[in-house]
Amino acid sequence: MGVIRRHGQFVIRVNPILCDGFGHCAELAPEIIHLDEWGYPVIEPEPIPLADVGALTSARYAERGCPRQALFIERVHEPGAR
Ligand code: SF4
Repeated sequence: MGVIRRHGQFVIRVNPILCDGFGHCAELAPEIIHLDEWGYPVIEPEPIPLADVGALTSARYAERGCPRQALFIERVHEPGAR
């Protein structure tokens, strides 16, 4: 059995046009997504290492669980990385 190495980072993006502001994503990924006073997601802008499996799993739950498909995970390429 091999070891999977995860290089790089990711961020979660939200499409504000699609988002309905009911905040389901913050329940699915509370360590990454918070809500503003109107219930719209506030997402940490700092990239998260792909090696953070817990955060990546939560992000995937939120992405798949968003009823409006307003969330997506975007991989961040580091300068000089291939
Ligand atoms: S679950 Fe989707 S539609 Fe609902 S607040 Fe989060 S991003 Fe917006």
